[in-house]
Amino acid sequence: MRRATEITSAAELFLSREAEFGLYIHTPFCVTKCPYCDFNSYQGLSHHEDEVVDTILRELAMLPKPSKISTVFIGGGTPSMLSEKNIERLFRAVRSATNDEFLREWTVEVNPESVTKPKLDVISNEGATRISVGVQSFNDSHLRLLGRAHSSGKARQALEMISGTKLDLSIDLITCLPGQTVDQALEDAREAMNYPAGHISCYCLTFEEGTKFREDLEAGTIAESSEELALEIMQTVYSEITSNGFSRYEVSNFAKPGKECLHNLGYWTGSDYLGIGPGAASRAGRIRSKTNLHPTEYTIVNLSETGLISEFEILSNEQIAIETIMMGLRLSSGLNMETFRNLTGMDIEEFNGVQIRAAVHKGWISKSANSFKVPANNLHLLDHIISSLTT
Ligand code: SF4
Repeated sequence: MRRATEITSAAELFLSREAEFGLYIHTPFCVTKCPYCDFNSYQGLSHHEDEVVDTILRELAMLPKPSKISTVFIGGGTPSMLSEKNIERLFRAVRSATNDEFLREWTVEVNPESVTKPKLDVISNEGATRISVGVQSFNDSHLRLLGRAHSSGKARQALEMISGTKLDLSIDLITCLPGQTVDQALEDAREAMNYPAGHISCYCLTFEEGTKFREDLEAGTIAESSEELALEIMQTVYSEITSNGFSRYEVSNFAKPGKECLHNLGYWTGSDYLGIGPGAASRAGRIRSKTNLHPTEYTIVNLSETGLISEFEILSNEQIAIETIMMGLRLSSGLNMETFRNLTGMDIEEFNGVQIRAAVHKGWISKSANSFKVPANNLHLLDHIISSLTT
């Protein structure tokens, strides 16, 4: 029998699996590289599309059929940039790896500039249930600032087209943009809610290491919103969204009843997931692995000769505990103590009882019979609270 560290594909970790798991597929191509983006995505590499899809299909083919896949998320990058033919190949392969008995949700991310009616037909006919559209803003000057490849007109056109399908619609927005006013942020949220979206993700812009925006920030050619303005924008926008039938089930995610993203809930509650595609991460129990990052390294040749795994780690109880706290406190349902116990083999009080009691005493978190939660009015302090509980 091979040792776990000798596996060629993370799919091998899921071969004899009894429990259900999530499947994430990463497509790394984008029309342009947005200046704020630190995802594993590339402009100008679409000529590698066929070989990346070939390798994804080869990895998928390793799974026993059908596997106990409960959720699928095809993300990126920009999955809608794939040709219609490759979307069809990919979706058919996913369909044959799944079983309706277990599959509860199948999401695909699309961007307005590359989603077309024929592609939507394939997505919908092959079994996807949910579509997440990277709108980010309906304001053209903000879309240009964000380096997006679409205009507001294109976003509206894509949303109209998708609204005519049976797919559950989710809209992604980015807020707290340099120079953005509270009213402009509010207009974006209101326009998003004019479409039949059951889910809205609304993230505050961050300036991540290694991005063009971070360089610009350090060079002083771009400025962050002040903390006060960012807080006012978030409070105003989030309260507008929640007063329109959405609940804030995660710090930046809002859903109408029953429309929460089950795949992402799996990450936030410590479920196992298989990641396929360049740079995709997987977790199977204590094992975490990552696939070769660059599309040219993610090839069938490497899969058969050297394997695709670039990082492999066996997590300690402490690492799992920290991750479970970081993820659980993002949720409005909070950090479930039983989940913590099941994942780490210890009670949370054993892990960091002193810090937990101090955070409860300060009113940062609240304790109920089986969970700890960050109350909505403290969510802007989340990073600080998590750091006090995990360091
Ligand atoms: S479209 Fe999305 S994944 Fe692609 S570069 Fe822009 S933010 Fe990143």
